[in-house]
Amino acid sequence: MPRPKQFRKMVSPPLMQGFKPFGIPRSALESVILQYDEFETIRLLDYEGLNQEQASERMKVSRPTLTRIYENARRTIAKALMEGKMILIKGGNVQFESTWFRCRKCYKLIDGIENHIRCKECKNYSSDELIPLNK
Ligand SMILES: [Zn+2]
Repeated sequence: MPRPKQFRKMVSPPLMQGFKPFGIPRSALESVILQYDEFETIRLLDYEGLNQEQASERMKVSRPTLTRIYENARRTIAKALMEGKMILIKGGNVQFESTWFRCRKCYKLIDGIENHIRCKECKNYSSDELIPLNK
């Protein structure tokens, strides 16, 4: 029997849904997927400058698991850079520290279940227009 998947902790979703290279015709664009947990290792290790021990504690994963996620992240980003692919940031086995939504109209991130009825940014009052990011 497979072990149940353990959620990895993540503070907040990324600001954007991905990256697009320029200088490549849209029709020729292919994409790679950077999962949320992979994105988080880049944030913690490369952006915040934590060591692997600290980052594994933050994400509630073992040190070897963290290393594996981080290696996948770097391989994915390297592939995108070398082969001129888009990076879509989505999926992965994560649990955010609070409830997050993304506005379908202006793409702003919205934090907190109490705010989920509207987007303050673009005055989008339809909750159908907010995409829940927690699974
Ligand atoms: Zn909005």
